[in-house]
Amino acid sequence: DRWYKMAVTNNVKADLYNVDMGKAITPEMVDAALATGQYDLIAVQHNETSTGITNPIEEIAEVVNKYKDVIFCVDAVSSAGGAKIEVDKLGIDILITSTQKALGLPPGMAICTFSERAIKRAETVEFRGTYFDLLAMYKYLKKKNYQYPSTPSLSHMFAMDYQLDNILKEGLDKRFKRHEQMANLVRAWAQKHFELFTDKNHLSNTLTVIKNTQNINISQLNSKLMEKGMQIANGYGDLKEKTFRISHMGDYQLEDIQYLLDTIDEILGF
Ligand SMILES: *Cc1c(COP(=O)(O)O)cnc(C)c1O
Repeated sequence: DRWYKMAVTNNVKADLYNVDMGKAITPEMVDAALATGQYDLIAVQHNETSTGITNPIEEIAEVVNKYKDVIFCVDAVSSAGGAKIEVDKLGIDILITSTQKALGLPPGMAICTFSERAIKRAETVEFRGTYFDLLAMYKYLKKKNYQYPSTPSLSHMFAMDYQLDNILKEGLDKRFKRHEQMANLVRAWAQKHFELFTDKNHLSNTLTVIKNTQNINISQLNSKLMEKGMQIANGYGDLKEKTFRISHMGDYQLEDIQYLLDTIDEILGF
């Protein structure tokens, strides 16, 4: 929905393909759409933050890569830094992410990777905007003098430099494993007291969406949690109060998640 909105509000023709909330995008769906030959670009969610889905990006990539002229864009805003995404191996042309999710930094800077193919394609696009003109950025980047066409959020860049060192110090595999372990903790708790909202074959390792089968007052629970400096997220959009979301991404440790779950138990009298 977000990609689609971004396209149409920028006067780029687009079609929206979606699935029921809580289900994953299938490689078959992607194949059927691209087989029409109508598209020169596809944008896919990696991790769907409103429903707790991680789409099967490897299988989707396999399909997309059959279509040589299709540019492959991936939104990994809520997964990059918390789950493995082999950008080059999967042939992802543009992957976008952000500072404030699994990278564990304050909000305010968007980050993307881009391929040579993406640059070549950008060269064919007349209206590329000003502040986000990939070609202008690439021109500066190639000079390796650490300048940008406009003033970037330098404070975020320094923070990210520091944080990326921390991430490498932890080790990528260990970091991804920690996310999986935190997810397992939350899933087990959710299944004990509630139900998982999301298709169990495609559960996200960075957040869990839980069906509010006990009809608890989520806003009230949150106010109580806030007294102890914690917060969970209500369901997104139509899913508000029907579901709630627990994030387990970034620099949280297993003990932090356990403490959150214990505190919820205490508040709800479980
Ligand atoms: C958070 C998020 C975004 C960015 O949303 P904001 O409007 O910047 O909050 C985009 N995609 C996904 C999957 C996200 O989780």
